[in-house]
This record gives sequence, C-alpha cells and structure tokens, in this order.
Amino acid sequence: MPASASILTLGRPPHDPKAGRTLSTRLDHRNPLVFDTHELGRRPGALQRLSRSVQAPENLGIAAVIGVPQGSEVVLEIRLESVMEGVLVTGTARASAEGECVRCLEPLRQDVAADFQEMFSYPDTDDRGRYAAADDDAEDDEDIIPLEDGMFDLEPVLRDAVVLALPMQPVCREDCAGLCPECGASLNDDPDHHHDAVDIRWAALQGLADSLGTGEKDNMSGAEPGVDEKQEK
Ligand SMILES: [Zn+2]
Ligand SMILES: [Zn+2]
Repeated sequence: MPASASILTLGRPPHDPKAGRTLSTRLDHRNPLVFDTHELGRRPGALQRLSRSVQAPENLGIAAVIGVPQGSEVVLEIRLESVMEGVLVTGTARASAEGECVRCLEPLRQDVAADFQEMFSYPDTDDRGRYAAADDDAEDDEDIIPLEDGMFDLEPVLRDAVVLALPMQPVCREDCAGLCPECGASLNDDPDHHHDAVDIRWAALQGLADSLGTGEKDNMSGAEPGVDEKQEK
C-alpha cells in the first residue's frame, strides 16, 4: 500500500500542485472505510472521536481459517488525534468472525475486537523529505502512510488488525474433544466413544513379535533342521 502510494506521488508533476492533488486522491470519500480529517484541523492536540458501522470488505481475516464474512457489520470506534507530523489514528473494530473448529471441523462463530493504531502523515511534510532525498527515504516510506487530500483509507490497517486479533487455530470451545482419529466420529457428541484400538494394536504388536520369533526359529530350523532338532532334545 505505501509502495503504490509512493509511485503515484512520485509520478505526479511536481510543478503543478493541483494536478498532484487530484492524481494522489485515489481515495473515494464515499468509501465507508475512507476517513476525512479536514474537520479535525491541523492544530496539534485536536481530537475527534468517530463511530462508524461499515460492511466488511472481502478477505477480512485469515484465509481458509477464520474471517469476517464480506458485507457483515464491522463497528469502528476511532479516535483521530492531530499531531505535528500528521494524524494519529487509534481505534477498535468489532465484528463477528466465522470459521471452522480445527479439532472437530464444525463451523464456529467468534466475536473479534481488533485494536489498531496508525500514523498518517501530512503529505507536504512527506513531500519535503521525499523531494530532498527521494532515494534515501524509500525505505522509510514503508512505515509512513501519507494522507491523501486530507483523507486516509483504513482498510489495510483494519485488515492487519483483524488478522492479528483472530486465532490461527480457532476452536469451537476450549475443551473441544475433536474427532476420533480412528473413524472421524465427533467425540463431543459421544464422549464415551472409543474403539478397542489399544487391544488391536497390542494384538498386532504381539502378532508381529510372535511372527518375528517364529520367523527366527523357522530360519534356523530351515537352515539347519538337524541342529535345531538336536538342540530341542
Ligand atoms: Zn470443535
Ligand atoms: Zn471412532
């Protein structure tokens, strides 16, 4: 995200600030995840609190594990704070995530509260550094997300926060017993479910031991039957 922003900013004609302004504004203020900081103003210390209910963007979560279904409600509580370099954004996103229990494979639903904090810098301060030493600043740009026409897109921040707040190994409940490794039956439904697996294995081992034992004897007797018979006598 910062990389593409840099490309756009660098690609604009530096002699025409108006062109740069429109070019860099790829953010659409009608997008509910785009926030406008104009009302906040640039006096350091100014605060603004916002609550906003948005529809979850696609792929909000951990792919193929657990995530917030696209279009479902995400409630955002956001604090904008004007600081010298830009706007510090702190907030929490609350949503309901859906996934599958890693133990019993049953569908599960889990509330998620994801905290986030991100600094969005004023592009003019950003530009000063950029034009003064564009190459040197290339690495730093990774950490700085510039405001675009006073707006910022919360989506990448929200995405990272939700992924961090979700479990990599979701379980339907802490004591989920999972599935029977032998036959796949749910051990939650039938806690007493078991096979005589121990006996079967033991029997198999016993059988193996027996066959190894007799095998040795057979080899010996097969190789030298006479000796074997004599030893037994
Ligand atoms: Zn489970
Ligand atoms: Zn079983």
